[in-house]
Amino acid sequence: MQQGIGTSEPGLRVAVPQDGYHRNLIACQVACPVHTDARGYVRAIADGRLEEAYLIARGPNPFASICGRICGAPCEAACRRGRIPRLDEEGRFIGPDRPIAIRALKRFACERFGVEPRPPAEVLSAIEGFVPPVAADAEEMAALLRAFLSGDFEPMRGERVAIVGGGPAGLSAAHDLALMGFKPIVFDAEPVSGGMLAVGVPDYRLPREVIRREVAVIEALGTEIRRGVGVGRDVSFAQLRRDHVAVVVAVGAKRSRGLGLPGEAGPGVYGGVDLLRAVALGQPIDLGKIVIVIGGGNVAYDVARTVVRQEAYDAARTAARQAGTRRVRLVSLETLEEMPADTLEIREGDEEGVERMNGWGPVEIARAADGSVTGVVFRRCTRVYDEQRRFNPVYDDADRVTLPGDTVLIAAGQTTDLSFLEDGGADVEQFRPGWPRVDPETLATTAPGVFVAGDLAHGTRLLIDAVASGKKAARGVYQHVTGRTLRAEALTVHLPLERYRREAGYEAIPRAEIPTCSPSERLARAGTSVEVGFAEAEARREASRCLDCGVTPVFDGSRCVLCGGCVDVCPTSCLALVPLDAVAGDAELEAAIEGALGGGADRAGNTAILKDEDRCIRCALCAMRCPVDAITMERVSFRTVWRQA
Ligand SMILES: Cc1cc2nc3c(=O)[nH]c(=O)nc-3n(C[C@H](O)[C@H](O)[C@H](O)COP(=O)(O)OP(=O)(O)OC[C@H]3O[C@@H](n4cnc5c(N)ncnc54)[C@H](O)[C@@H]3O)c2cc1C
Repeated sequence: MQQGIGTSEPGLRVAVPQDGYHRNLIACQVACPVHTDARGYVRAIADGRLEEAYLIARGPNPFASICGRICGAPCEAACRRGRIPRLDEEGRFIGPDRPIAIRALKRFACERFGVEPRPPAEVLSAIEGFVPPVAADAEEMAALLRAFLSGDFEPMRGERVAIVGGGPAGLSAAHDLALMGFKPIVFDAEPVSGGMLAVGVPDYRLPREVIRREVAVIEALGTEIRRGVGVGRDVSFAQLRRDHVAVVVAVGAKRSRGLGLPGEAGPGVYGGVDLLRAVALGQPIDLGKIVIVIGGGNVAYDVARTVVRQEAYDAARTAARQAGTRRVRLVSLETLEEMPADTLEIREGDEEGVERMNGWGPVEIARAADGSVTGVVFRRCTRVYDEQRRFNPVYDDADRVTLPGDTVLIAAGQTTDLSFLEDGGADVEQFRPGWPRVDPETLATTAPGVFVAGDLAHGTRLLIDAVASGKKAARGVYQHVTGRTLRAEALTVHLPLERYRREAGYEAIPRAEIPTCSPSERLARAGTSVEVGFAEAEARREASRCLDCGVTPVFDGSRCVLCGGCVDVCPTSCLALVPLDAVAGDAELEAAIEGALGGGADRAGNTAILKDEDRCIRCALCAMRCPVDAITMERVSFRTVWRQA
């Protein structure tokens, strides 16, 4: 008997693929909160199908171009290439491999065919006019748009929905509501759209023009944006509820959280996000000569690196900076290895002159008799996390140091401001002050017709989480207004591939470093993008590293002649031919074996082919080698569709 039956574990414990098994192998797509088919666009780039790559990336994500610049990229964390051993050209192990540079590849595709080079109308018509080829490479393209066009949603008639907050969550809700036929009206207290993308993320990471262009597409779909209108300040929440069929509250967490230190209140101490906002909006902020940033995460780095650049804005200070009279010190509780900031942020901060001090916790802000800041007292932190990996710092009080400084910036998290609920939102229950109680399926609050999205719904996370929750809130609104229930369904397609071939030597290519400009270029002109982006040849080479986890060899046991050719040719030894009576597993496995043997037959003398998914690099050599065509390569792809229940 020959049977392809799934993954093996040590001791020949075998698991039979269950429903969703092949889908879950596409780890990048599963990990993305909006299930972008990263594999699909990476492979399209490798093949030179660049517009298709953009359309695949843009389908489920109205902020594809922005994500190409700054997404926290959960897809890369999940990428299987980062978990396989790295081999040299002779197939020798030379260390662990690294994930595909998916985010930078997305930027590459967007820069060629996204909002950067094209006006909104052209981008929209490209999306709407794009008919995915039968080859399932483009299956995830604009899944939502197709679902609407194929009539899964009842088209709405311009019912007005108010959205409080024009960050990625509010604007993603508006995007999908507009596609459904609602009239979304976004109220934003800031004079610019994009929320934290525009007033938090520094422009050296995300050019403002990219935000404006991405938002222009959402407006072109029929979204109205009222900028500079604060709810609770210029219009009441009660009024919004009266005038609209539903309200989505997506106000984010824009308040800097303080540390409650002695001396914290007063001049010279600012919240990190307040500093970033002031710089983004060109508002004056008086930074002294020695700036201490407290925090060890990405926001702390945005703050510190923005301060470093502040000198460059001001020509008169350039000489001072060159003379080294301004110091920016970043002090974190964590050791370098434990710091929550991305390694890249830390490296680039180091390169730009941010002085890092690890393992110190603030005790108090020291002030002179006139109230001005003179420094910060720190004590040694001997441990940040306890055995359960909970944040639970321990200090050595005897080991203290006072760092001199005249400005302190605190980047220790953000919290919400829901004071606008006082007029008209008393029925929005909060499970703790500032955080509404929500239905996780629809993002409805306890107040009829009021939904939440983004950081307010789930706490501070990534931009792409905010996008996903904005889209979810839009569906919540649809259900509320129509009285229908929507159900998300993963539509899975299996497509046999006639001729599946991989690029020569793809398994040995090391991850490309994302090109950046030099520290002196970065600091010479404010807003200079640090990352430069891939050129086409680099992008295609990097994309060709993708293991294409959606492709899998499928074994036809009835044709196999047990020659063992597939096992011999496999470069990663992921296949094994073993006596059937050596395998063990659960009831599912037993049932599969029984089914294959026809019931009652003896296992002895029968053989199983086992495959270790973790090691398979989808090279297709097994299929090419098989003399009796018992192995075919098959592409599995999936997308989410919304069905009326
Ligand atoms: C400094 C910084 C850097 C970041 N960098 C990254 C990154 O590189 N990658 C990544 O993936 N994520 C990053 N994030 C996280 C990401 O920006 C947030 O998760 C995301 O912006 C949250 O979206 P949101 O729409 O929920 O809220 P926000 O983006 O905060 O938007 C909320 C909007 O609501 C408006 N608003 C608030 N109150 C009112 C009111 N009463 N009336 C009217 N409007 C109101 C605000 O003005 C704001 O425009 C970063 C966050 C920060 C703070």
